Order: sequence, then C-alpha cells, then structure tokens
Amino acid sequence: MKELSKENIYICKSLKSKMMFMFIQLQIYIGIGFIGTLLSISALTDANVIACAIFSSTTIICFVLLYLTIKKILYAEEAIYCSEIFENETKPFIDIGTIYSQSIYGFRPQKSFVIFERKKTMQNTFKYVSGAIKKGYLINCTIEINNGIPQVALAKKVVKDSCPYCGAPIINAINNNYRCSYCGKKITNVIERK
Ligand SMILES: [Zn+2]
Repeated sequence: MKELSKENIYICKSLKSKMMFMFIQLQIYIGIGFIGTLLSISALTDANVIACAIFSSTTIICFVLLYLTIKKILYAEEAIYCSEIFENETKPFIDIGTIYSQSIYGFRPQKSFVIFERKKTMQNTFKYVSGAIKKGYLINCTIEINNGIPQVALAKKVVKDSCPYCGAPIINAINNNYRCSYCGKKITNVIERK
C-alpha cells in the first residue's frame, strides 16, 4: 500500500483505517467461509440435511460479504491512485479516459490483492472512480459530463494552511469566506481552483 501524502485533499482522511478494517473483515469472512465449507461437507457425509443447510447458507453469506469487501477494497485502491493523479493535475478538469494514461509512477500499478479484479478495474475507470466518490473515499471532486465526455471536476485546493494573524491551523476550509476558528478573523484566498 502506498503511503498517503498528508496534504492530499482528494483522499478521505480515514481511508487508511477503513482499509485496515476491510482487510480484517476479509480475513474473518475467509475464515468463517472455510470452516463453513468444511462443516457443510461433513454434515453432508453424515446425511444431516438441516446442519448442511445451515452451514452452507452461512458459507454463502460469508462469500457474498467477502465479495462486497473485495469491491470496497478496489474502490479504496482506486481512490488512492486517483488522488495522486488529481493532486498532480494542474487543470481543474480531467477526462476520465485519460486517467490511466497519466503516469505518475511510470505505469499504472497493477498490484492488487486480486489481480483479475484489478484488470477489470482498469477497463472500467468510470465505474470505479464514481464508486470511490460515492463511497466517500475520494473527496473534493465530482464527476461531470462536459460535451459528452465524463470528466472529474477537481475541487478547490487549500493554499493556506495557517491563519496569517494568529498562526492557528486552517481546518476544513470549504470556501473563500473562511473565518479563523481561533482568533475569528476572516482569512481570504484560503482556497484556489487548482
Ligand atoms: Zn487566527
């Protein structure tokens, strides 16, 4: 997992802990799914229909949850990747189609814990970028269709990080009418269109 840059305004701040939780969920579902499979096989050999039904339905539920967790991880990985591209972008709009031709690492990292899913991800940028935004992993950006071309509209970039009057940190500035939460003075030009 790539280290998230601290100033990146496009990535959800709690994504790292969210991803850690996802990986824990993943292991739990794999564990229960595996045990459930073994138990349903042994129930089947004992011709215990009820036990087999219970164990196999538990297993199926686990695999469904596993699938959903894998999807979430893929959206999160997408968010990390895209946030780096957005941060390095100088224009306020990026064509979704060009996201994968942008090479900040030299190439699109194909490393994912599910390689087949990653290949699908690469072919389906729009779905995964919008998914990452919907899930709140990618923030400060929206998808807009301009002249029929889906684009990511990058939000404003915070250009001041501390109050020029008292030095207090500027937190959660969303518009240019930011008022210092410490000294109460109005601070202009906190945000610029990137
Ligand atoms: Zn201040």
